[in-house]
Amino acid sequence: MHHVIIGCGAAGRAALNRIRRDEPNAKITIISDELDPFYLRPYLGYFLINERLPEAQQLADAELSETTGVDFIMGVRVNRVMPKENAVELANGKKLNYNFLLVATGTRFWPQELAPEGTQYYTLKTKADALRLKREAETVESVLVYGGGYQALELTRIFHLKGKKVRWLAPPGFFWPRQLPGVTALDVKNKLDALNLDVRINRRVVQTLDLDGKRYRSFDDAGDSFDSDLIVLAPHEAPRIDFLLGSGIHIDRGVLVNEELKTNFPNVFAAGDCAQVFDLNSGQSVINFGWKSASKQGIVAGENMAGNNSVVIPSQDEFVLDLMGKRLLERW
Ligand SMILES: Cc1cc2nc3c(=O)[nH]c(=O)nc-3n(C[C@H](O)[C@H](O)[C@H](O)COP(=O)(O)OP(=O)(O)OC[C@H]3O[C@@H](n4cnc5c(N)ncnc54)[C@H](O)[C@@H]3O)c2cc1C
Repeated sequence: MHHVIIGCGAAGRAALNRIRRDEPNAKITIISDELDPFYLRPYLGYFLINERLPEAQQLADAELSETTGVDFIMGVRVNRVMPKENAVELANGKKLNYNFLLVATGTRFWPQELAPEGTQYYTLKTKADALRLKREAETVESVLVYGGGYQALELTRIFHLKGKKVRWLAPPGFFWPRQLPGVTALDVKNKLDALNLDVRINRRVVQTLDLDGKRYRSFDDAGDSFDSDLIVLAPHEAPRIDFLLGSGIHIDRGVLVNEELKTNFPNVFAAGDCAQVFDLNSGQSVINFGWKSASKQGIVAGENMAGNNSVVIPSQDEFVLDLMGKRLLERW
């Protein structure tokens, strides 16, 4: 039996553990286009602020070093899935056959909707991004955060705590788009105001000038300008499923799966931020972004790949909650 998992985030990792528990002798291959086998993505901010990494990260590392019997293919993208051949094609041209496949590819950002023309910009999605930002942050004094949501809030927090001069500019519809339980747009605005932070809502950058290759002047549509050494974007994100186009696997906004996380091919599953899961209660197919939900779905997918019939009942309460949700405004 060969299980192939695409993606080594919360969902992929949880599925891996569950398959190993239920089918200790099965062959498992886990593929990621990131180089790091596993890390806690929501803690990238901690890493940037030089705070001690939380206990969970150390546990994860220790657990990983004891993992045997699993093939990790890191730093390689899956370009194509061919479900009729039970095979995936990697960017290096290799093909892998599977008995069961899990798509756990998370989301990708859409920086192009915000990216200032002709200037360098950064995002914070991966550990590689965090390393880049950490290096840049050594020398800069001022930072423009452009975008919205918890990403923009997190970036503003990071650079504020690092002692930089930060301006958060949120285009219309970006400031606080999601319904985070217990955290309203007004809560966020009040918090930032109380800290005397520079936040401009419903402002679009209309032009950015590269002053000398190191410093940028951004003009917004209200006629204000801001000079910064670093531009960091917090764009919208969407499931990373473009590589499934033309595969025959049904997709909508995410990979469409039933309550057992099966796609229209019974040996192909999807879990985590990339999955659009049929909700038995509402009769709708929903995407539940967030670490906790991805882990829970990974467990269910792993169980079902190992021959069980577990189900997922999507729940709003899981949405970006446990790790940072309620603490979003408490850790400044
Ligand atoms: C800075 C930051 C802070 C966050 N804070 C919180 C928080 O406080 N609370 C919370 O609940 N959530 C938070 N999140 C979101 C949380 O990290 C995600 O919801 C969670 O990681 C989703 O897990 P996943 O396994 O579905 O996908 P991911 O963790 O995104 O993992 C997907 C993996 O698949 C790989 N991949 C994608 N496509 C391919 C391909 N074609 N070939 C090979 N590999 C591929 C990706 O590189 C990635 O490693 C945060 C995210 C970020 C970036």
